[in-house]
Amino acid sequence: MSNVLAGEESEKVVTYGWAARDTSGILSPFHFIRRANGDNDITLDILYSGICHTDLHMVKNDFRISIYPMVPGHEIVGKVTKVGRRVTKFSVGDIAGVGGSVGSCGSCSDCSNGFYVYCPKMILTYSAHYYDGTITQGGYSNNIVVDQNFVVLIPKSLPLDGAAPLLCAGITVYSPMKYYGLAQPGLHLGVVGLGGLGHVAVKFAKAFGMHVTVISTSPSKKEEALEKLGADEFLVSLDQQQLQDARGTMDAIIDTVSANHSIQPLIALLKTSGKLILVGGPPSPLEVLAMPLLLGRKIIAGSAGGGREEIQEMMDFAAKHNITADVEVIPMDYVNTAFERLEKNDVKYRFVIDVANTISCMSN
Ligand code: NAP
Ligand code: ZN
Repeated sequence: MSNVLAGEESEKVVTYGWAARDTSGILSPFHFIRRANGDNDITLDILYSGICHTDLHMVKNDFRISIYPMVPGHEIVGKVTKVGRRVTKFSVGDIAGVGGSVGSCGSCSDCSNGFYVYCPKMILTYSAHYYDGTITQGGYSNNIVVDQNFVVLIPKSLPLDGAAPLLCAGITVYSPMKYYGLAQPGLHLGVVGLGGLGHVAVKFAKAFGMHVTVISTSPSKKEEALEKLGADEFLVSLDQQQLQDARGTMDAIIDTVSANHSIQPLIALLKTSGKLILVGGPPSPLEVLAMPLLLGRKIIAGSAGGGREEIQEMMDFAAKHNITADVEVIPMDYVNTAFERLEKNDVKYRFVIDVANTISCMSN
């Protein structure tokens, strides 16, 4: 099969990806058409694609917004192969990255402030309606066409497999540290859940000079958290005594947990005026007792990714401080096993698909 279409559709290119067809969460090979590269667009040949837990939520329709067939992937690193005539930020051959958003209104206050991720018309990288009515498809595929305003440059010093997860996991933890004023030396941060987001949160927080306590359900992660990732303390969240001893000690907590869990014990760990920042997306509603919040003047808040400028800032900061994700690089056809393992909390700490070397142009 030719990968270039005939006639007036000739600008459009057939893309090879792996898609979920339903809530079973099983992915299989899938051919689809990406839009032609427009004046403001760049086309990337995808090299690496991280597997975020959000991809797992999405293939299972945990958030009730999934559109099938769905090619997941929003931690995308690739090589620029085409630039539109109005593209100023990129050249053919650049190594660039795409995160969770590929469009927004461009004129609301969030877009004007550079935080298009909060724009009510923000378009997700996959499983969303694009301006032209097509459904967006993500990075578990051999190429992607993206508006240049939603693409960042990957600093040359970063290994590309370890850099891919920064496009989502990295910015999702970096952004609230900056926005909520947490990125200060000596400030005590709790990081709940040592997974894809959590382990890069530890790395960024240490680079900011913070005192970091990992709050985890997995005692087996303790040694690595302290010795390899540089955390200062490790608290097993199922151990009541450890929770009791740490009450009132933390300035802020970033909660990255993907599953339903109680946040009440976390609120107790905060100092007066402490902030609990939720970045994980458990499928069910959380329960909160008001009184411990009132009496401690505590804040519960949320945060999503960031805008292009902030993602670029985070990437450059990561390059300066040698921060990348710890990854297990896998071939494309391992993705279903990777999802099974991710569900069982069996990855240290991010699966990254070696797309360029392992995706094959199989038929549907
Ligand atoms: P992940 O790699 O699976 O890590 C989640 C961690 O949560 C696990 O490693 C585990 O850490 C902990 N955990 C798992 N099940 C738990 C349970 N039942 N109770 C308590 N802790 C549990 O996932 P991720 O990719 O980091 O993503 C985490 C969450 O963030 C997902 O819900 C994802 O959708 C969301 N997310 C949000 C944004 C955003 O924009 N806000 C962006 C990306 C991802 P321990 O073993 O240390 O306990
Ligand atoms: Zn993500």
